[in-house]
Amino acid sequence: MVRVALVPAPAGDPRFPSHECACCGVRYPVRRNGMRLFHGDTLDGDICPDCVLTGPAGAAAKVRARLTAIRKESGEGGGGRKRASLVRLLSRRARMLDGTPSFSLSARQAAARETRERR
Ligand SMILES: [Zn+2]
Repeated sequence: MVRVALVPAPAGDPRFPSHECACCGVRYPVRRNGMRLFHGDTLDGDICPDCVLTGPAGAAAKVRARLTAIRKESGEGGGGRKRASLVRLLSRRARMLDGTPSFSLSARQAAARETRERR
């Protein structure tokens, strides 16, 4: 079970892609509110508005797509220790998202605002 916490946008150029999504892996700018993924009290990384809007199941699918790509890239058993720990981290994140029924309404509203202002 994960939850999304809102954080104020960082100082600086609001067009600069300063955040990297822990689910789909894209770099994206934060206009008003950044969103962070928490597992209990543990910060698991940033999450982009698109992943918040798609919901936990959709975000889990994006994490799994990245896992598939990483496994393909590294081949059978290849990739070394760094790759292996990334695979472990992403697998854990996908499982936690699976166990999450939905993101909070305030997170979804903030995500909708962020995507509106992007256009
Ligand atoms: Zn994302």
